[in-house]
Amino acid sequence: MNVLISGASIAGPVLAYWLAQHGIDVTVVERAPALRKTGGHAIDLFRPAMEISERMGVLPQVMAHATGTTLLDVRRPWASRPAHIDYVKLAGTMSDRHVEIMRDDLSEIYYDASRDDAEYLFGDQITAIADDGRVTFAHGGSRRFDVVVGADGLHSGVRQIMFGDVPERFLGGYLSVVSVPKSFAREGEMTGYYEPNRVAMVYTADHLDDARAVFVFRPVTPLAFDHRDVSRQKRQLCDAFTGVSGEVDTWLAEVGRTPAFYFDAITQLEMTTWSKGRVTLVGDAGYCPGPAVGGSTSLAVYGAYVLAGELARAKDILASDERLREEQISTAFAAYEAIMMPSVVGARAFAATTAKTIVPGSRLGVDALVAAGRVISVLPLGVTQALARFNRRGVRLYDTMPLPA
Ligand SMILES: Cc1cc2nc3c(=O)[nH]c(=O)nc-3n(C[C@H](O)[C@H](O)[C@H](O)COP(=O)(O)OP(=O)(O)OC[C@H]3O[C@@H](n4cnc5c(N)ncnc54)[C@H](O)[C@@H]3O)c2cc1C
Repeated sequence: MNVLISGASIAGPVLAYWLAQHGIDVTVVERAPALRKTGGHAIDLFRPAMEISERMGVLPQVMAHATGTTLLDVRRPWASRPAHIDYVKLAGTMSDRHVEIMRDDLSEIYYDASRDDAEYLFGDQITAIADDGRVTFAHGGSRRFDVVVGADGLHSGVRQIMFGDVPERFLGGYLSVVSVPKSFAREGEMTGYYEPNRVAMVYTADHLDDARAVFVFRPVTPLAFDHRDVSRQKRQLCDAFTGVSGEVDTWLAEVGRTPAFYFDAITQLEMTTWSKGRVTLVGDAGYCPGPAVGGSTSLAVYGAYVLAGELARAKDILASDERLREEQISTAFAAYEAIMMPSVVGARAFAATTAKTIVPGSRLGVDALVAAGRVISVLPLGVTQALARFNRRGVRLYDTMPLPA
């Protein structure tokens, strides 16, 4: 069996690793000319993704790249003093097994784990996929694959080719991450400015050469947003945050010259199936619950692992007859979707709630969020974890996802 994966970020390399482990030939095509070490916010890896990383033998590297943030310093214009929240306890409440790591570090770790056993083609992309698995590439040439997987993110090219425009749900906010000088942040601390409908934070990590300024905002009316128009996104970001504070203005002054800029609408995909013929989707391409609000990275790792398991099962019984072979592939896709669907549905619901709660719309809401953070900070971790375990559809959703062998 040979499989083509589009996208080398998180889902793509994890899938490539596991397929290669099962003796399947893997090619990964990535549109960017090299692995995208282009910034982005820290992401959370929850229990299933931690266990998958452990089974891949990369957990020590993952732990070595943890951001190490221990304190959240929250400033509100109407409060005379900053509020200090214990970040370790906050994260520990969500998961018994968790790490916060930069997206680009994680991508590189998974890429390094898979690169020797998979063929990586950088700087190219798929332009057409025929029913028999023949794929045409932008830079010329075509090749035939048994299976094609879109692991190419929220704005997936494979999804566009196979499904066209699909139902999306805008969760009402935007997320932006800007690389700023390291001196702007204090190590181990995240400094945040909270106001109704907008939050700006800055943090760094020991091993980073820069700091990351993160902005989340919920404008009253949705922006005229184009995910390819970076200059307009930069203007929209500055319009939304200029004047919040002198410190935030300093971060914004870097936007014009930053080496790494990320901006996206917090949008959720609502597909009820993400497989067609020989093609399926994994990670954000198929079931993004919304950037920054729904644990999309853990879901992508989990989905890649589950899909690889089902394709490995199909490979073991792969028929020589072309029609039977297609049947086996579609059986594998159906099993993959059946395992994933409850987690995807849960992540969508969790993300829709989180999108509202992390950026409250009123002073009262901001104060309530800070008060909850303070309570978690003073209670012993064991107590908040015990209480949180009752919330299997909320904060504990990820820890309770079943991990197949
Ligand atoms: C540079 C970058 C920064 C990010 N920063 C954040 C962040 O700050 N906060 C957050 O919540 N999420 C962020 N994300 C998204 C986050 O990585 C995903 O939500 C999650 O990890 C799931 O990963 P994924 O592999 O499914 O998709 P993604 O991480 O989105 O990766 C998709 C990959 O496919 C590639 N690609 C896209 N289109 C094509 C194409 N047509 N052909 C071939 N390759 C293609 C992309 O270059 C990328 O490498 C970022 C993603 C990227 C690429």
